[in-house]
Amino acid sequence: MSHDDDVRTVHRICPLCEATCNLELRIKGRTIELARGDRDDVYSHGYICPKGSAIGHLESDPDRIRAPRIRDRATNTWRDVEWDEAFAYIDAHLTPLLERSGRDSVAIYAGNPCAHNLAPQVYNRVLIQSVRTKNVFSASTVDQMPKQVSAGYMFGAALSIPIPDVDHTDYLLILGANPFASNGSLMTAPDIPGRLRAIRNRGGKIVVVDPRRSKTATEADEWLAIVPGTDTLFLLAIANVLFAEGLADPGDHLRDHVSGLDTVESLVAPYSPDAVARACGIDASTIHRIARELAAAPSAAVYGRIGTTTTEYGTLASWAVDVVNVLTGNLDRRGGAMFNLPAIGGGNSGGAGGVGRGIKVGRRVSRVANLPEVFGEFPAATLPDEIETPGEGQVRALITIAGNPVLSNPDATRLDRAFASLDFMVSLDIYCNETTRHADVILPPEGLLARGHIDLALRSLGIRNVAHYSPPAVELEAHEYAEWRTLLRLAAIMQGLGSSDDAVDTVDDFVLRGLVERAVGRPGPFEGRDADAVVAELSAGGRRGPERVVDLMLRTGPYADQLNLDALIEHPHGIDLGPLQPRVPDVLRTPSGTIELAPEPIVADVRDRLPELLDERSHSDAGLLLVGRRDLRSNNSWMHNLRVLVKGKPRCTLHIHPDDAQRLGLADGKLARIASTSGSLDVPVEVTDAIRVGVVSIPHGWGHDGPGVELSIAREHAGVNSNVLTRPDLLDPLSGTSALNAIPVEVAAIS
Ligand code: SF4
Repeated sequence: MSHDDDVRTVHRICPLCEATCNLELRIKGRTIELARGDRDDVYSHGYICPKGSAIGHLESDPDRIRAPRIRDRATNTWRDVEWDEAFAYIDAHLTPLLERSGRDSVAIYAGNPCAHNLAPQVYNRVLIQSVRTKNVFSASTVDQMPKQVSAGYMFGAALSIPIPDVDHTDYLLILGANPFASNGSLMTAPDIPGRLRAIRNRGGKIVVVDPRRSKTATEADEWLAIVPGTDTLFLLAIANVLFAEGLADPGDHLRDHVSGLDTVESLVAPYSPDAVARACGIDASTIHRIARELAAAPSAAVYGRIGTTTTEYGTLASWAVDVVNVLTGNLDRRGGAMFNLPAIGGGNSGGAGGVGRGIKVGRRVSRVANLPEVFGEFPAATLPDEIETPGEGQVRALITIAGNPVLSNPDATRLDRAFASLDFMVSLDIYCNETTRHADVILPPEGLLARGHIDLALRSLGIRNVAHYSPPAVELEAHEYAEWRTLLRLAAIMQGLGSSDDAVDTVDDFVLRGLVERAVGRPGPFEGRDADAVVAELSAGGRRGPERVVDLMLRTGPYADQLNLDALIEHPHGIDLGPLQPRVPDVLRTPSGTIELAPEPIVADVRDRLPELLDERSHSDAGLLLVGRRDLRSNNSWMHNLRVLVKGKPRCTLHIHPDDAQRLGLADGKLARIASTSGSLDVPVEVTDAIRVGVVSIPHGWGHDGPGVELSIAREHAGVNSNVLTRPDLLDPLSGTSALNAIPVEVAAIS
């Protein structure tokens, strides 16, 4: 641990995006003086992007909240308080509310950064279980949930998501993704630009299907400017060609492990290239050619991301991606779409493999909109319904754990109003932003250097099997409180154990005990061992909190013979566990023990809803459709307060094709008014031919000019909140995920 004037080099996994690069940080005391890529890292090999380089600016941002604070509602002013007072205040308000209005009166919203931080990864579930509320929401239903649902149906577990084996593939078909800007998503891959360029350098081919000619499309061999929201039609037409031309073949390695082929053949029969060409805006001959190229390539992978998941047909598109991977013989083979085997086992690596219970969704429905639960949560789009609609079970209090739903969820204006109407709100966050300004109490986490980190979910999405842990580099300062203790102290309050710090260790010990008892009671390295002895072993040296849980997970995971937390601490540059390996049938957890190509809910959705899409896009003039976009220097809403990342040309602009701009009388740099049935915005125009005619684009995560927002630099570059335009009624029914793309809008010049 450091003294204030120590200058040291430490290595840490970057928590800012899914790529999980390892950073080499020069720190002085607690200040990050320099961040660069760790050249010795087994996975990222020195790669770093502008966001990673700016991590020191994020840590030292003067607008960061450093101490807990309470808002005086009468004056709408904040005061910093001691931690004990903050938790006592929460106890005094939430406990009576729970008693008066019931468990469902408290809702929880978990934001995207929860997937990048250790404490929420381990203890969010404990807090949720302690509140015992049905009203759980997260950023998953404005993001990747459709992929989890389709993977769950097809392979039996929500994180059994096939990952393109980019380091070995000969052909990559990318839909609705811009990894040159996002650094990869549902595909954990440091230096994805280098890895994609390597595909072409070794003679492979990349085709990008996207309404925008993104940076990734620019770097690809071919760009297909699809009509937004029609990816499912395009992919089913590819499947149609594969069947029609006798090219549909899962391959010898999968032949005995696939069910539903005949059903898929009949499902795709109406979706020939000729039938979908107009709807997709892609020539039938091109679709034929892409299908044949995929089938003929020595290896190929289809990969779809945000443009495919955040539409009304997100689950169907996600399913269709893997249908094509199976039909071309590329699922679970080198260079195709493969399954990771993470060091911390997940839903597809424990116990006997090859068969399981599959997934269950829709075990209950939301109170107001009757929307089914998916993996324990309701669609984020219906959160305002639950807050604003009176009756038993009405949400009157909210706990947000990171995230900024006012900027990232649909119908932002209504959500903002709903948050303002709550009786009580607690936010765990580093900023007073568009969402947390409504909180009564904000609880900041400790600084980056003071906490340990290991990725759990993201490692199961890696293009390679890698294990990595970053221990804390400095001790907590007097004003800091570990985020894991915050989560468990809230859990203790929700359990009626009071607001004292003492309760944290009690809850932590209880959680560990439960996990250990499970580990000793089932097949695995700890089977049959004495639980007390195991708890003592894991607690040696005073270890507790998430690290102790992680150590247990490592010792009972797929690499238990070589990995535990101490081994990872000894390897600051990570441990390489090798390239992805074929995992079928062991990876499967479906009831049939096969890859279920035609799960009943998906078959029904194809039959019931997809014809409408084909009809609508083929025969009507859809007008202008809005899509989002991503920038390398941005990540959702929360990196706009760093001058080093927001300087330069404004990025929150309306991209529009020159033909549309001319038709509407719009000029570069002038303001346009864009309107949907939800609201309207005035936004600067950027005329560009890097977008399809009939499509306009605004990035999400902007709009930092609201009252009470304490983001001084972001306010200078406020931009507009694109979610003023998105609609809560446009949902993918199978996953509850909001359609944030393909939103019908009207655009007019402002004179
Ligand atoms: S690519 Fe992602 S993980 Fe890597 S340095 Fe940039 S923000 Fe960090």
